[in-house]
Amino acid sequence: MNTSRSTPNTTPEAAWPLGDRAAAFRARHFPDCSDADWHDWRWQLRCRFRTLTDLERILELADDERQALAELGRALPVALTPYYAALLEPKNPDDPLRRTMIPVPAEFSKNPGEELDPLAEEDNSPVPGLVHRYPDRVLFLVAGQCPVYCRYCTRARLVGSGHNSSKRQWQQAIDYVAAHPEVHDVLISGGDPLILADAKLEWLLARLRAIPHLDLIRIGTKAPMALPQRITRALCRLLQRFHPLFMSIHVTHPNELTPEAARACQRLADAGIPLGSQTVLLEGVNDDLETITDLMRGLLRLRVRPYYLLQCDPVWGSAHFRTPVAKGLELLRGLRGRVSGYAIPQFILDLPGGGGKVPLVPDYVTGRDGDDLLITNYQGKPGFRYHDPLD
Ligand SMILES: *Cc1c(COP(=O)(O)O)cnc(C)c1O
Repeated sequence: MNTSRSTPNTTPEAAWPLGDRAAAFRARHFPDCSDADWHDWRWQLRCRFRTLTDLERILELADDERQALAELGRALPVALTPYYAALLEPKNPDDPLRRTMIPVPAEFSKNPGEELDPLAEEDNSPVPGLVHRYPDRVLFLVAGQCPVYCRYCTRARLVGSGHNSSKRQWQQAIDYVAAHPEVHDVLISGGDPLILADAKLEWLLARLRAIPHLDLIRIGTKAPMALPQRITRALCRLLQRFHPLFMSIHVTHPNELTPEAARACQRLADAGIPLGSQTVLLEGVNDDLETITDLMRGLLRLRVRPYYLLQCDPVWGSAHFRTPVAKGLELLRGLRGRVSGYAIPQFILDLPGGGGKVPLVPDYVTGRDGDDLLITNYQGKPGFRYHDPLD
């Protein structure tokens, strides 16, 4: 594993399993690109790989990948920033990040239990772009696009189509929050909110922060992993004016924890933004204990507190990614006692039909003997007793 140490001028010393693949990729595919361009998030967005022809230049495509790319049509688009494309193995279709980004035909089938809108968000949407499911929190969808498109996206029905929310629509959502004093927490998501320019973010954040009953503003984003160039000093200065502001970072695999991602997280953490992670559990991508352990420990090193490990939502065409629920519980059991409690996320099932999120916890209590609970410990050793009288 981690044989090559990270490049200079990066702190903290994140494990970087990919060595200097990014540098090699850049030298090969963008030999004339200046440093200024490469580190510019707008250049990264402009130069994304989006089509079969683009991707043929950088990957040896397998037949099923080629077929899916040719048939993509109006489905969830493909996009890879040059930075993120460098993290994919060019010759291996089973490479974990490659599986999350490059479509295969299985994505076009609708399997039993799968829905276009699995969480029934449309049913809980009082105004366009706002989901109000829990009494105290709202989900505010402010962007229709992302730097990269995850193939298992729960909001595939909404994203990539090109229409960003308008300020008029945002204003309706802001007015709704202002008119509902029970709402204390706004989760800004999308799409990816950090695809928006600083000025637009500032417009949104300033209006939300002016609402007196709003405590927490959260931003859900994959930018620190997929487009770390977006985390500029100017952005961090802007965000820190609107505290308490938290960030939930979508992260999938330890291969994403590069020096660039580490620096992005460092800047955000230094701006006083509490960082949490959200990881979707994916078959053949991150569903083994070694990978999950590396990911969660790696995140803590970047000052990102693992928050949610999510069972893959039953969105159309996601069956090839879905693990049995028992797998998530097995991984949690494996983490407990193996890593710091801070490195252990909650395992979450988001209930179809809009029932909301439910944490699933491995059962350590195996039964009762009179006034004693019978408990199995973190090592799997049974027979511990805890005196817990019934009355
Ligand atoms: C996930 C989600 C939230 C936030 O839930 P937390 O458990 O507080 O992180 C809020 N609203 C909706 C609709 C959600 O899906």
